[in-house]
Order: sequence, then structure tokens, then C-alpha cells
Amino acid sequence: MEVRYVLGTYHEIILKGQNRGFFERKLLANIKRALAGLPVASVTIPSRVVIAFSEDVPWAQVQARLATVFGLAGLIPALWAGRTYEELERAVESRLHTLGGESFAVRCKRSDKRFPLTSEDIQKKLGAFIKARTGKQVNLTNPDTVVRVYVQSDGLYLSLGEVPGPGGLPVGTSGKVLVLLSGGIDSPVAALLTLKRGAKVEFVHFHSAPYTSEASIRKVEELVRVLARYQGQARLTLVPFGEFQQEVARLAPERLRVILYRRMMLRVAERIARRHRCLALATGESLNQVSSQTLENLAAIDRVAHMPVLRPLVGLDKQEIIDIATKAGTFELSILPHQDCCSFLQPLHPATRTTPKACEEAEKPLDVEDWARRLQHQAQSQVLAPLPWDS
Ligand code: ATP
Ligand code: MG
Repeated sequence: MEVRYVLGTYHEIILKGQNRGFFERKLLANIKRALAGLPVASVTIPSRVVIAFSEDVPWAQVQARLATVFGLAGLIPALWAGRTYEELERAVESRLHTLGGESFAVRCKRSDKRFPLTSEDIQKKLGAFIKARTGKQVNLTNPDTVVRVYVQSDGLYLSLGEVPGPGGLPVGTSGKVLVLLSGGIDSPVAALLTLKRGAKVEFVHFHSAPYTSEASIRKVEELVRVLARYQGQARLTLVPFGEFQQEVARLAPERLRVILYRRMMLRVAERIARRHRCLALATGESLNQVSSQTLENLAAIDRVAHMPVLRPLVGLDKQEIIDIATKAGTFELSILPHQDCCSFLQPLHPATRTTPKACEEAEKPLDVEDWARRLQHQAQSQVLAPLPWDS
């Protein structure tokens, strides 16, 4: 299917009262960015969002791109049906051959109250017209086909279908969050859910090169490029973590290794976040998914943080996480083999229930503040462009 117009609905923004204009401007800017390169004529908000193209464009392409614009609750490919009821009738007439089934209903939404006919008038009149032309029956409770009409201040539109949008809030309306990105399945989904609530994201990745291959770095860069589609470009900071891990392996109890790595990751991430004006961190941890993610261990990890550590996956099970990752296109990258930094020097029997006190004790031989400072200085940032749409 090819489309010339797409209507976009949004819900949560409507609740924003005085700030609504700010949210709407962000939404429009994000839509324009996502559609860059397509022949867009205008993007406006007469009542819902109206995207007009200067020529027909493949709906599948438009839909894929708008799926990255959080804030859009529903997407309606549409046909322009003029400004008067008579023009609407002519538009419907030209499409009668596409009406399937035996019965139909007309549903009308009138956001321009100045239009001379009410929604109900239009539904009745257009229903009678379609019935006379096609012989199909009107069935308001269980119709085979629904003809949807939108009456807006910029004219009338005839819907060609409706699909759910990505929902959420426009990216750029909720501040900035630094996501700890591992290259696994979960943390890219944590980034997506953070973006979905309107925050911009940056990324930090800890790697053990040269002790492990650089594959995890390439993979994480690729993931960042996919996620950057949701906000434009994205900054990725790489931190060489192998030396610190060796020191932990040498000086601290084996069972606590992973928890001590995580605590150091938070310390370093927080320094980077402060520098880049991020107000919170986010991780892909869930609750009890693996041994390092018991409530006790999460509490021991969080103890070193001074800013909020968001864990958007906390209520999701693995299958839900995989479904989100698959839809967003991060899953296929995440499952490519790589050596995670935490599999380097991984303990055989990690502690499932530690305490902040046990961790502090274990960290005594390490100068953790000095390590955090050094790791921050060794960190290297780069800004990555979104993955182009054609690939
Ligand atoms: P993921 O699928 O994101 O790797 P996971 O379920 O495998 O998560 P862990 O490997 O225990 O869980 O990691 C928990 C979280 O810690 C990750 O989701 C990520 O936010 C952070 N993390 C782990 N390893 C790294 C790393 N090398 N660099 C940055 N963050 C990391
Ligand atoms: Mg992992």
C-alpha cells in the first residue's frame, strides 16, 4: 500500500496541561527526523498529527520509521477527502470497491466543531449513501468493515486502516539518562524503555580488551546505532575494565567478583553521567533473573550510587524482554557471540546474597575511589550516527 497522508494520535501528551505545547513541538521534530529522506511536505498538529507527503510513499516504510517515534499512540494511513461533505462522498465513492464483507459501519470523529454536520449526521448520511451504492447492510455492533472519517480543521480524512504506534512520550522531554550497555539482550531493551518515557540516552560500555576480543565493542557500537534511531545520534563511552578485573581477581574473594565489578561500573558510570549532565543511570537488570540480580545483591550494588539507578526491566520476564528486543531489531545483534567482560575471570560460585558491608570489606585492599578516577580518565567517548534506514 502507498500513502499520501498519515494521521498520528497521542494520548499521554494531552494530560500535560500547560506543557502540552512543549511536548507537541518535540513530537513534531522527532517525526521529521525519523522521516528524513522521504518526500515529506508538512507535519502539523491541527488536532491530531497530520503528516503529508508530496507524493505517494510505501506505507511499510513510513510505519517502520514512525515505530521509532515515541509519543505516537496510533498511526492512521489516510486519504484526503476534501473540505465538504460532498467531497467526502466522492472520495468514499472512489473507494467503494475496497469495502469487503457484507456489512459495514461508518464511524466519524469530529475535532473541528465548526463543521456544519455533526459526527452523527455524517455517519447516517454516509451510511445511507454506501448502502444505496453497494447494497451492503449497516451493522453498528459487529460490522465486517468500518469506514472511518476524521473531520479536522484542515479538512476531512478517510482512514485506510489503523495500527498501534509505539506509545510513550516524545524523546527529549524527560532529561538524559546514562545506560550501562553490555551487548546482551537486556540492556538494549532497558535503553528502549527509558527512551519510551521521553528521556534521551547515552551509553557506557565496559570491556576487557585486550584480554577478550574486541567483538563486544563492535557489537555494542552496532546496538547503539540501532538505538540511536529513536533519538538521532547517541554518545557511547568505552571504558577499559580488564586491569581492574584482574586486580579484583587477585585481591578480593572470588564469590564477590561480579558484584564488585558492578559496583565499580556504577561508580565510573556516575562520574561519566555527571560530566555529561545525565541525571540517572539505567541498567538491564531484572529481579532474580540471574544470581547477581537478587534483591540483596542489587541493594549491595546500589549502595555506591548517588543518583537514581533505573531498572526498567524489573517487572518483565525474559520472553517479554525478547519480544521487545526482536521488534526493535536489537535481538539479532545481541545474540551474536561475544565475550562479555563479566565472563572474563568469572567466579564458579558467585554469591547470591551479599551485603554492602561484605562488599566494603572485600574492597578494602583496592583503592576504589582511585580506580574510579583512573577508569574515568581512560574512558573514551564517541558520537554514533543512527543506522541508515535502507540497510
Ligand atoms: P544484559 O543482557 O544487558 O547483558 P544480563 O541479564 O545478562 O543483562 P548481567 O550480565 O548480569 O545481566 O548484567 C546486568 C546489567 O549490568 C546489564 O543489563 C547492564 O546494564 C550492566 N552491565 C553488565 N555488563 C556490562 C558491561 N560490560 N558494560 C556496561 N554495562 C554492563
Ligand atoms: Mg549480560
